[in-house]
Order: sequence, then C-alpha cells, then structure tokens
Amino acid sequence: MDYDTIAAVSTPIGEGAISIVRLSGPEAIQAADRIFRGSAALTKVGSHTIHYGKIVEPETGRVVEEAMVSVMKKPKTFTREDVVEINCHGGLVSVNKVLGLVLDQNVRMAEPGEFTKRAFLNGRIDLSQAEAVMDLIRAKTDRALNVAMGQMEGKLSALVRELRNELLDILAAVEVNIDYPEYDDAEIMTEKLLFEKASRVAGKLDRILSTAGQGKILREGLSTVIIGRPNVGKSSLLNHLVHENKAIVTDIPGTTRDVIEEYVNVGGVPLKLVDTAGIRETEDIVEKIGVERSQAVLKSADLVLLLLNNNEKLTGEDRRLFELIGDAHTIIILNKTDLPSHVSADELQRLASGRPVIRTSLLQEKGIDELESMIASLFFDRGVAARAETYVSNTRHIALLKQARSALSDAITAAEQGLPVDIIQIDVKRAWDILGEIIGDSVSDGLINKLFSQFCLGK
Ligand code: GDP
Ligand code: ZN
Repeated sequence: MDYDTIAAVSTPIGEGAISIVRLSGPEAIQAADRIFRGSAALTKVGSHTIHYGKIVEPETGRVVEEAMVSVMKKPKTFTREDVVEINCHGGLVSVNKVLGLVLDQNVRMAEPGEFTKRAFLNGRIDLSQAEAVMDLIRAKTDRALNVAMGQMEGKLSALVRELRNELLDILAAVEVNIDYPEYDDAEIMTEKLLFEKASRVAGKLDRILSTAGQGKILREGLSTVIIGRPNVGKSSLLNHLVHENKAIVTDIPGTTRDVIEEYVNVGGVPLKLVDTAGIRETEDIVEKIGVERSQAVLKSADLVLLLLNNNEKLTGEDRRLFELIGDAHTIIILNKTDLPSHVSADELQRLASGRPVIRTSLLQEKGIDELESMIASLFFDRGVAARAETYVSNTRHIALLKQARSALSDAITAAEQGLPVDIIQIDVKRAWDILGEIIGDSVSDGLINKLFSQFCLGK
C-alpha cells in the first residue's frame, strides 16, 4: 500500500547531540534531494548509503545546515518505505529549519508514532513489536531495556504464535471430526484429548504470565514508600538512593521538604518513589491521611522501606508502623548503627517476624550496598533474571494473556464435564482470537490508532 510522505524530528536513543529529520514515503528521496547539495543527487545514489552535503533553501540556494544524509530504499527499511534521514549536528533551531524546508516539499508532518504505525501497517513488525518500540523509548533501566529489546525482536510474538498454532491444531482436529465423522485416519478429538491439549497450552500461558509481575515492575517501576518516625534517616536514605543531594536533610524533625526524581535505578530495578498524598517519605502518614487510607497505600506499594533508629529504644510509634504495614513487601532498615544500640534485639526480631532487616549507617555510608542488593534480589531471584528478556511487561499484553487463560479454563471445565467437543471448541476459538490481539491479528482500527498515538513523535 502507498501512503503519503511524512517527516518528523527523531533523535536516536542514547544520543543527545545529533538530531535527525526522518522522512518516509514514496516522495522521501525526491523531497530530500530538492534541498540537498552534495557530490551526487540523492535520486541517483544507491540504497543504504550516506552522503555529506549542504541543506539549502531551494529557491535561494542559501545554506541552512551541513548534514550527513542517509538514503534507504524500500523494502529493507524500518517502515518498508523509502526512508531518508538527515543528520543535523546543529542545535534545535537549525533542526527545525531543516524540518521546515522538508515540509515545504509536499511532505506532511508525521503524527506521533506514525513511523512505527507504518512499519506495522506495511507488515514489517507486529503489534507487540511496535509497542516494544514505545517501551524502548521509555525504558528506565538496562534490564527494562533488555525486556523491550527482546520483545522488539519478536520473542513474545514467537511465543504467542506457537500457542496459537497449538490451539489451531485443536480447532482443526475438531472440525475434521465434525465434518468427516467417517474419516478414520483423523485423530478422534474426544473431550479427554481436548482436555489434555487445552491444559498443555494453559500451562504454557501460566509460565508466561508468571513473569508478568517482574515485567510490569521493570516497565513501570517498583512503587516504593519510605516510612519511619521523625529523624530516623528517611531523607538521608532518599539522598543515597538518588545519588544526588536533591532531598534536603535537616536536623529539625518535621521540616524536611524533599524534591526528588521520580525514578531511581537500584540494582537494575527502577524504584518509583510513591507520592500519594505527599507520603513519599513521611513520618506522619496516619495523621495525614488516616489509618485506613495509609494501610491501603502501603498495601498497594510494591515495596515498603521501614526505618528504625538504632540509637533509641523502639517506641509505640515504631510498633504502630509494624502493625500498619501488614503483609506488604517490607525491608526493615535499622539505621544509625554507628551510634550505640538501644534497640532490643529480641523485640526487633519479634516485630520483624521473618522480614529482612538491614543494618545501616547512612551517615557513614554503610549498609547501602546490602540494601540495594536486597531490593534487587527480592524481585530477581537468579532463575528469573537469567530469562529476563522473555518477561511479559506490557499491561495490554498481560490483560489479553489473562483473558486467553480464562477462556481456556472454560474449555477445560467444559471438557471435564463431558460437554460435546463442538461446544468446547467455542472457548478454544475465543482463546485463539484473544491471543491474536497481542500481535495485532484481530485488533480494531480504533485500538491501533490509540496505541500509536501514545508514541513519541518521530518514532
Ligand atoms: P528523617 O527525618 O527521617 O528524614 O531523617 P533525616 O534523614 O533528615 O536525618 C535526621 C538526622 O539524622 C540528620 O542529622 C542526619 O544527618 C542524621 N543521620 C541520618 N543517618 C544517620 C546515621 O546513620 N548515623 C548518624 N549518627 N546520624 C544519622
Ligand atoms: Zn525527612
């Protein structure tokens, strides 16, 4: 299919200094050639070649910018259309000038995500890969990047295709049985066989879904709340975690005003420091939002860091915090271990009741490594980390995988109850359809437009 020619500024991942004006579409090379002066016309050069020259106003010949221009002819391009990339090393002003010139050549400004959308529409990538492009742009840590890369390379797609094929085999066998009951060579699709086959696919789905928790955390960050009485060292901890002195440390209880970055990379885990109702780092959580709401917040957090002061006896307030955290994932941090201990080891052990306790002196920068590796190991036991690139992390994918799983559960239940195979196969077909949505085989235009509009411009 042929579309019009589009362009946008697209800055490559990990490179800030160079900006690229990217064109894609049937007129991309001609349009770029009209504003390019180099040793050869771009319309005459070979595919996948790069050319040094000047970008000029075609009417006046005035030079706007020096540039390296790559010419890539279809179909071996990201969009499967002719693509030209004008690499500008000047600042924003000159990039925008170049873009302006390009747009004067009967080229349209690309909508957000439109390049990726074209790659999808032209069959270059499937939907889960297109979404991975978006994840790549947003990836917050190296691990998150690996997940997105794996997804872009089609690992999830391959898994989904494999499962769909197995379901299709079941459906085909049922069809043969129904349409040609006299055909002896066909495998007879009994409820029992159907049960076995559907269960096997369900098992595989469960394994993929079991990575969803970690995958989601990699993608969205581990929502983390730091709690403790005044002066135990919450701001100091925050400081060490962000490795920058953005939080203000103060000696006067209750005067902390913290401005911090949203995400902190701890051992490959992106921590998202939660700021629900200003309780990102707080001593008076209960006063601020009440017992019930604070319990709800702590419960919904992926991680609670509870700080205690080694230099003082445990207080009623400390004990109340232990009650509050309930069964939230908690790491207890016994801080100020450089000072004499007044904390009863017995009581601490009883209150901790199996939760990990890390001893730190934030003042002397001790114990922070242990804390960081504890956080990482809570969410990446070795077995899981080794398979990092096969995590399913995208919320839409997780939801669809769960729906497919529940359709299969229905099929399995029906098979157990001995319902006829042509009834059971309705649920199998449903699972097959739902899985198709992950790779974009059966999605509506509305959803496609919505998904692609979330992309950054120029991707
Ligand atoms: P917050 O009120 O819980 O946020 O506690 P802060 O981080 O503001 O720390 C309160 C005071 O305790 C500051 O003077 C810190 O320098 C000090 N402090 C923090 N960690 C330690 C530690 O490990 N040892 C000692 N001796 N002082 C600390
Ligand atoms: Zn503080």
